[in-house]
Amino acid sequence: MLDLTGKVILVTGGSRGIGAATVRTLAAAGAQVIVHYGQSGGEAEAIVRDLGEDKALALGADLSRPGVAVDLFREAISWRGRIDVLVNNAGVAPSVTVDEPLGEWAETWARTLQVNLIAVADLCREAILHFRGRGGGIIVNVASRAAFRGDNPDAMHYAASKGGVIALTRSIARGYARENILAYAVAPGWVRTDMAAGYVREHAADIAREIPLGDVAPPEEVANTVAFLASGLARHMTGATLDINGASYV
Ligand code: NAD
Repeated sequence: MLDLTGKVILVTGGSRGIGAATVRTLAAAGAQVIVHYGQSGGEAEAIVRDLGEDKALALGADLSRPGVAVDLFREAISWRGRIDVLVNNAGVAPSVTVDEPLGEWAETWARTLQVNLIAVADLCREAILHFRGRGGGIIVNVASRAAFRGDNPDAMHYAASKGGVIALTRSIARGYARENILAYAVAPGWVRTDMAAGYVREHAADIAREIPLGDVAPPEEVANTVAFLASGLARHMTGATLDINGASYV
């Protein structure tokens, strides 16, 4: 078991899916975790009750609203006076195709880029400014396999947002390594969460064929990878994006 005792970690979108699994894994390894949620706080508060208020805090912020990420990071710091690791996990995957009206297309692109990329960049900015004064820190961004191989025609905006996350991560790693600020991304394929449930249900046979391991990943496997990166044991891997897809990308 990795030892994260004493680390204060902000997990965005920590209320469910990959984020919730990550929160529980980090807490089990000794971290104190800020469980950020988007719209409704019930799930995040239930996790905090489970883990104990000395180990976790629920914080809400709608990252589809420009600028909100900055307030979220500052509020998160005030809990324990610092943050050691930022995990940018919150994300959305709405559908839109070229056949929809232009207004709907533009709104979906803007909302997806805002939540999946601009809010992530804003949080990274706040983290870099904070880490600088403290001798370093770690950022782990949740991207997607879609960044490398593209996505279906109704999710091109999603693939583009996650490609941006990977480029952002590499840029931070290159630019701030000398200040001991480490940045990683993970790129899951299909993961068993609410976001993927519909597709996974409808395309079970395709998925079994497409993924050499034969099934979709449980969220806990993404969580384990994030915990490893958050531990600081992988310093020279800074800038890397880790595939978590049962060999379905290669
Ligand atoms: P999920 O829908 O179960 O959870 C998404 C999380 O993001 C939730 O906690 C939600 O509160 C938060 N969120 C959504 N909109 C928000 C907003 N406007 N403001 C603040 N928070 C908001 O999805 P998941 O599958 O757990 O996805 C987590 C991350 O993993 C996402 O970035 C997603 O793109 C990525 N991912 C998922 C899969 C998959 O197959 N499930 C594959 C690759 C990457």
